[in-house]
Amino acid sequence: MLLACRVVPRELLELLHASTLGSNAVDLELLQGTLAEMGEPAFRTRQVWEWAARGAASYEQMTNLPEALRLELAQRVPLSSLSVEHEALASDGTEKALFRTNDGRPIETVLMRYRDGRRSLCLSSQSGCPLTCTFCATGTMAFGRNLTASEILDQALHFRRGSAAGGSRGPSEGGTGRAAEEINHAVFMGMGEPLLNLDGVLGACERLPDIGVHPSSTTISTVGWIPGIERLTERDGPTIRLALSLHAPDDALRSELMPVNDRYPLADVLDACRRWHEVRKRKVYVEYLMLSGVNDKYEQALALAALLEPRGAFKVNLIPYNPTESGFEGSTREAIASFRQALEDKGVPATVRLTRGRDIHAACGQLAVSAPAR
Ligand code: SAH
Repeated sequence: MLLACRVVPRELLELLHASTLGSNAVDLELLQGTLAEMGEPAFRTRQVWEWAARGAASYEQMTNLPEALRLELAQRVPLSSLSVEHEALASDGTEKALFRTNDGRPIETVLMRYRDGRRSLCLSSQSGCPLTCTFCATGTMAFGRNLTASEILDQALHFRRGSAAGGSRGPSEGGTGRAAEEINHAVFMGMGEPLLNLDGVLGACERLPDIGVHPSSTTISTVGWIPGIERLTERDGPTIRLALSLHAPDDALRSELMPVNDRYPLADVLDACRRWHEVRKRKVYVEYLMLSGVNDKYEQALALAALLEPRGAFKVNLIPYNPTESGFEGSTREAIASFRQALEDKGVPATVRLTRGRDIHAACGQLAVSAPAR
């Protein structure tokens, strides 16, 4: 059941870092360059971005730009670096899009809609993932590369433009576009490990507020990549929320479930999180996947509670397991409830995550595309 591959190949990681540095923080640069070439004033870039951030689906809609300029931009600067290959809408209103990057890499993004008006985007930071967490579907697809800041933002802009659920007519049906939809939260819990692409992720986070998503409503979820946690601790700029995928209260089990634990063991990861908490004055969200008979025993709840010191630094989110091909079984509702109670009894705040979008394979850990990266 548990995979044997335990080590993240060093060459792969080096390649990853190289590809981040070489990334072209594209569209806006291309736009700026094109506008400059055309002799347009500098404020035009801002005008175009403001339209895009408010959900404009075409240059045509940017009515404060001269018509000739709109036509020329439409020819020369694509409004998105991603093309939509497939969209699906779940019965609970969750929506998933499969995109391709310009070089043919697949990415998936999910929009979760909640009754209280919350609109939360689950963003991908990489096409595929180089880590091989045994319970996660993304790890089984071919790893592609880090996404650029623009490719991350373009995922958000797609949904900002409105969605199939909105019922407005899309361009292919003769409409002018979809009705723009407000988005107010973002979580980096789609494909990939965001802290392996921190430049791309932070680049996107700088602009997400223009789309309506503020740093305090943005969460970066990590397997516990310590150099990235340290950078988030030390960096200037507003605090982005931090979530740690913990999943097991001891190193032996955690290494079985998440091979990355061999590189960054639990005690070191938790130290890095404590430091982040001290500096950033926010709780670290601990994600804990509930796997039947694997990590859901009473003693394991006690062991977890013992790890999460000081009280006040951590908050646990128990995650019902979404089926993948991995062979694990999710804990029962009762087992999850007892685990939660055991944590609460020890003074550790814990909630159970609502599962969304299961019928379209959009839930956590189900984002994978069978097509190999081209
Ligand atoms: N690499 C990052 C972000 C992507 S995964 C990370 O690991 O945190 C986002 C969350 O989904 C993680 O907590 C991950 O462990 C969880 N997850 C993965 N597979 C899952 C599954 N099959 N069911 C439920 N949650 C899953």
